[in-house]
Amino acid sequence: MSVTAFAVEKIPLIKAGDDIARILNGKTELKERDIVVISSTIVSKSEGRVVSLDNMTVTEKAKIIAKRNQNDPRFVQAVFDESEEVLLESPFLLVRTRNGSICVNAGIDHSNVEGEKNILLLSKDPDESARQIKESIFKYTGKKVSIIITDTNGRAFRIGQTGAAIGSAGIKATRDWRGTKDLFGRVLEVKNEAVVDEIAGFANILMGEGNGGTPIVIIRGLDLYHESYGIKELFRPEEDDVIRRALKLM
Ligand code: GDP
Ligand code: MN
Ligand code: MN
Repeated sequence: MSVTAFAVEKIPLIKAGDDIARILNGKTELKERDIVVISSTIVSKSEGRVVSLDNMTVTEKAKIIAKRNQNDPRFVQAVFDESEEVLLESPFLLVRTRNGSICVNAGIDHSNVEGEKNILLLSKDPDESARQIKESIFKYTGKKVSIIITDTNGRAFRIGQTGAAIGSAGIKATRDWRGTKDLFGRVLEVKNEAVVDEIAGFANILMGEGNGGTPIVIIRGLDLYHESYGIKELFRPEEDDVIRRALKLM
């Protein structure tokens, strides 16, 4: 198997209301079953998820946590507003977002956002965003593609960040090896590979984190197209999550 990957050049700065599928259509020719990897940053921008820190109504709780974490109380308030549950308050905010993913600062970004006081929230439902972009690409090109929306995330036990999938469409989030055999005939019992995260991690190398201006990466040659959508099967159920339970006891 041979796989090609490239970042799409000359994507403009994305604004609220922009149609990512239409912009992409003018910049590269997609092929059937391509995987289109899109940074959450531009999906959020297109959905108008920019908010000004000046518009936050800061609670006492946010002031206390902000002081403890040496952060801007308005930013802490924005994180609280996006969160369903706070798993860790200090030295940083680890939360479960309303969409169900667990991440630091509810995935809210300062970087690559125009305006000193502006911050960027994650899209409300990235799986749904991915589904819409997939349908829109089909409308413009007649091509069935997979979509993965990525965000750069830190990791609990390792230094350094990697791209992770936060939404998907046209691909199964996992490739299940359970029930298949290893080289020596033993039946695999645990392996359920998070393919959307693996692809997100690789695509992120081509996107970069800075001023590259390359928020869209095309992966061609992986045979993973599937008429399904969503990454929520990756969210570990609370009752199986020993780390989450341990955090709650702290
Ligand atoms: P995140 O990982 O989704 O939070 O996004 P990053 O802030 O790390 O940005 C990923 C890539 O997208 C980098 O190459 C940025 O320069 C680029 N990028 C971010 N916003 C825009 C935009 O509006 N237009 C273009 N062309 N590139 C952008
Ligand atoms: Mn981000
Ligand atoms: Mn990034």
